[in-house]
Amino acid sequence: MRIRKQLTGIPAAPGLAKGSIVTISNQNITIPDYPIEDTESEIFRFVSARAAAKDDISAFKEKVKSETDSNEAEIFEAHMMFLDDDSLISLAEQEIVAGKNAESAWMKAVDFFAKQLEAIPDPMFASRAMDVRDVGQRVVRHMMGLNQEVTKLTRPVIVTGRDLTPSDTVSLDKRMVLAFVTAEGGPTSHTAILAKAFGLPAVVGLGEALMTVEEDAYMLVDGNSGVVVVNPSDDEIAVFSDRQRAANEALHAALAVAFEPALTKDGMAVEVVANIGGNDDAIFAHENGAEGVGLFRTEFLYLDRNSLPTEEEQVKAYTQIFSHFKGQPVVVRTLDIGGDKEIPYMNFPKELNPFLGWRGVRMLDGREDIFREQIRSLLRAGVGVDLRIMVPMIAVDEEVHAVRKILNEERDKLINDGLPYAEKVQFGIMVEVPSAAIMADRLANGVDFFSIGTNDLTQYTLAVDRTNSQVAHLASAFNPAVLYLIDRTIKCAHEKGRWVGLCGEFAGEPLAVPILLGLGLDEFSMSPARVPVIKQIIRKLDMQTCKVIAQKALLAVTPEEVKEIVRKSYLELGISV
Ligand code: PEP
Ligand code: MG
Repeated sequence: MRIRKQLTGIPAAPGLAKGSIVTISNQNITIPDYPIEDTESEIFRFVSARAAAKDDISAFKEKVKSETDSNEAEIFEAHMMFLDDDSLISLAEQEIVAGKNAESAWMKAVDFFAKQLEAIPDPMFASRAMDVRDVGQRVVRHMMGLNQEVTKLTRPVIVTGRDLTPSDTVSLDKRMVLAFVTAEGGPTSHTAILAKAFGLPAVVGLGEALMTVEEDAYMLVDGNSGVVVVNPSDDEIAVFSDRQRAANEALHAALAVAFEPALTKDGMAVEVVANIGGNDDAIFAHENGAEGVGLFRTEFLYLDRNSLPTEEEQVKAYTQIFSHFKGQPVVVRTLDIGGDKEIPYMNFPKELNPFLGWRGVRMLDGREDIFREQIRSLLRAGVGVDLRIMVPMIAVDEEVHAVRKILNEERDKLINDGLPYAEKVQFGIMVEVPSAAIMADRLANGVDFFSIGTNDLTQYTLAVDRTNSQVAHLASAFNPAVLYLIDRTIKCAHEKGRWVGLCGEFAGEPLAVPILLGLGLDEFSMSPARVPVIKQIIRKLDMQTCKVIAQKALLAVTPEEVKEIVRKSYLELGISV
């Protein structure tokens, strides 16, 4: 008899799926290693294999473009960049010239490059290292005349594996994939990104236990909670099927009215906007009925390159993104790097506690030039846009004034230069450090708005590293300590006539909606896919009920108690999530 197992991982793409599994094992090939004499023909083999790998990657790119609405083909652009990377190529060629065969020379260079990326303590760079290895293997296979491995799926299955490379994920016939489930990887892994783009549920980071599951086991996958049940009972399958049916119906209903405003039952209009990180997200946000942008993460402009973006490059990129939101608000967050998000060409100092170190607005101390250039680019691109500039990681009042001063100075310079600039810009800060929430009454004097970043606010309030899965169970924004700080921030802002948004993952949590409405939140900003569902929940609530729920939640002791309060009300109101 098969044994039932329940595993909990990281929810990486929402949705429910059930079915039997197929495991993809990316077995690394043994790399031949021998001395060579004919350097020229070895370099020719290397160049030809690279060209063939580029052809493959172009084909993948086209496949992603044609199969998904949201264009995640950028992943393969990064692969192309690795193949054209001068330092990688010259490292491999030096090895060949020194007498190594092309396969071992190339893989030595790839390994060196990947290890450098792996040394950076950020899951985003771990994904990049995996890209490098994926591309590396592809080139070697061409050199060795081996087929590029493609798993043929003949029936709809749940695809599992230790981690899936972007080529694995893209080569699979998506009509045959029900969900992706992996032992490794984090919420920013490619499995997560591509699963979201394909609209498939995914759970990642399930650990070694996943690798011991039988070959054709049956599985229930909950991409919303990260729970996976292996070999479930018949009763469990029946209950899960009902949930799946209800969720599908709810999603269809929500999508059908995604462009309608989100009005509570008693007629209050709630602003529902999106978190975006680039142009594809902007398009996706627009298509999902987002009424603007509550958080535009600008880091993408600075990653995957060897030097800082120029002012002109920035103006062009911002202008393109703003064009999707005519007449709608766009909150742009200035560069939030440092700490866990490093940029290799910026040579960050090594820090013992990067999350408590030189990150976000603290960049002003040392690299004010980068900040000024970004502000100038935003002001130039923001002509005719409802632009709101927001600064991350504010901890003390002096930072607010320093930023305001720079904003005014850069605007004056544009006037002097006779260049057009955004004349009406709101200026706000993220409230994601507890001191900012505690001092919100005073910080409110220097800003037009606050946006609460619950991802970091939870991390700093509860002292839980947001990248450490060992302490992940403690990191809940439902914790009344976090709710207390949200409540304080909103109250202080409203007393000074400022509006408050929330752009952490919490805004897209179905159970958080009545609490946040009851506390008086003005704007909800979330990943684009969540917009239709959250709008639909708002439409089923009334403000009086929400206020009661919020007050009860503030008095609760544990996050679980808070969720139970909301679940009970949802049951009474007939709201299913
Ligand atoms: C947050 O901290 O809640 C937030 C939205 O910012 P990020 O997740 O980019 O740190
Ligand atoms: Mg943050």
